[in-house]
Amino acid sequence: MNSVSRRTFLALAGAAGLSACAPKPHPASASASPASPATVAAPSPGSSPQALDLAKLRAALTGRLVLPGDAAYAVAAQPYNAALGPRQPAAIAQVASAKDVATCVTLAGGRGVPLAARSGGHSYAGWSTPDHGVVVDVGALNKIQVSGTTATVGSGARLIDVYAALAAAGRALPAGSCPTVGIAGSTLGGGIGVLSRAYGLTCDHVTSVRVVTADGELHNAGPNTDADLFWALRGGGGGNAGIVTEFTFSTVPAPAVTIFSLHFPAVRTARVLRAWSQWMAAAPNQLTALCGVTAAKVPTNRVTGTWTGPAAQLTPHLTALISAVGAAPDTRFTKTYGYLDAMKYFAGCSSKTVPACHPASVPGGTLGREAFRAASRMLDRPADDPTAERIVALMAQRSGMVLLFDSLRGAVAAPSATETAFPHRAAFASVQIYSGSASANPAVIAVQDALAPLVGRGAYVNYLNQDQSGWAQSYYGGNLDRLRTVVRHYDPSGIFAFPQSLLRA
Ligand SMILES: Cc1cc2nc3c(=O)[nH]c(=O)nc-3n(C[C@H](O)[C@H](O)[C@H](O)COP(=O)(O)OP(=O)(O)OC[C@H]3O[C@@H](n4cnc5c(N)ncnc54)[C@H](O)[C@@H]3O)c2cc1C
Repeated sequence: MNSVSRRTFLALAGAAGLSACAPKPHPASASASPASPATVAAPSPGSSPQALDLAKLRAALTGRLVLPGDAAYAVAAQPYNAALGPRQPAAIAQVASAKDVATCVTLAGGRGVPLAARSGGHSYAGWSTPDHGVVVDVGALNKIQVSGTTATVGSGARLIDVYAALAAAGRALPAGSCPTVGIAGSTLGGGIGVLSRAYGLTCDHVTSVRVVTADGELHNAGPNTDADLFWALRGGGGGNAGIVTEFTFSTVPAPAVTIFSLHFPAVRTARVLRAWSQWMAAAPNQLTALCGVTAAKVPTNRVTGTWTGPAAQLTPHLTALISAVGAAPDTRFTKTYGYLDAMKYFAGCSSKTVPACHPASVPGGTLGREAFRAASRMLDRPADDPTAERIVALMAQRSGMVLLFDSLRGAVAAPSATETAFPHRAAFASVQIYSGSASANPAVIAVQDALAPLVGRGAYVNYLNQDQSGWAQSYYGGNLDRLRTVVRHYDPSGIFAFPQSLLRA
């Protein structure tokens, strides 16, 4: 299997997104000696280098300030997406507490350099690791406590840790596929996963958020306190309204999950897309499926999903799909898993221990970075025959690309479009345009543009693209004005601004 088809396979195996967190060896350890704060990289043009006093920041932190030249810098400065190339932040503050976060905001905010929070580091455009900026790395704030139906999760926890801790208590939270994605970035943008139709988005389960705002104050935002901020933090996108230190979530009983995967003959791919569409439109909430359409002269397909009802009751649903496709699948897989094993399956790390499902950059971790380009659209309605044919035709002109259609509606559609900041409540599905080639961004954008007249102009902020036109309206729709107002209220001088921040929308 070549690298593109391997990535494509892995991406499809992870039904709700890109689970291709492919194992790679540990990075070679750097040998440079610690740098002194006087040797930091030059700040960006127009900034005030004297104003950013890194020595003072280092002295004020309980955690560690990693600077260029420090042995830890090369790894600490890497965004997850290797297609972005090396980043050169001025400093990475590996904070040890909410107080450290407040210290970073107070001492590094508004000093003429970007200031960005980083949880899992998986931002598609690398917004969490800005060149010449200060990264507030919350990775050490990763404590998870489960008490009854409630989980308190530090903002640096990775999804695999959340799944493992919840599973140990017999509880579950709907969230994304990749085990190394951070709870903060994914929740703040919404959080789509294989259990979303059954239980909603990750952000729908947030009951309160501890967040440091631009004035350095720690807020406990909830329905009755800082309610506007609480609203914005549920779908308004990471990095916009402050730095989250901790979430409290409501959880659900951990379900048994039956996973299925069907692969139909390539000549049927348009039929598969249409059939999947109509099947999902009528499906019960316990059933969800991703339809993947992989670029080729004759595009190939795969339908992968989950069923949380009684295992024996899945068969008639699959029979209905096969009948609508009008052809038997070439391959068919079904198996029932416990919750944690199901999440590990979609994470692409079924055969690994939980510690091994971590980045290779942490002790015990084995998962490497990926180089990819991606963008998104939201399907506003099920695809009919002509639409399915035109979508599949887009993939017949390409190679090394895949369209990943994640079913929505079900519990995702229960809140109104304005109840939280996530605006795509009526969307039928999200479609991710993904390529494993670092140079594919123009092709990805071309497909995104071509999809707009077929499926609508919406896009999911967690599958952002730095070159997307009309990004603010696409990500936030009817919630854009309120989001702008809330974010400007909490960050009037724009210390958290980044290229696609609400401060620039
Ligand atoms: C391999 C892969 C698989 C994925 N699978 C899914 C999926 O199944 N479902 C899904 O919905 N999404 C998925 N995503 C998208 C993912 O949800 C987003 O990329 C998300 O933003 C990543 O969060 P992070 O914390 O890892 O990234 P980061 O890069 O750390 O953060 C992302 C953004 O949030 C901000 N941020 C980070 N921490 C904080 C904080 N503590 N407070 C405030 N802002 C913060 C950052 O500044 C940045 O703007 C996937 C991404 C990848 C790369």
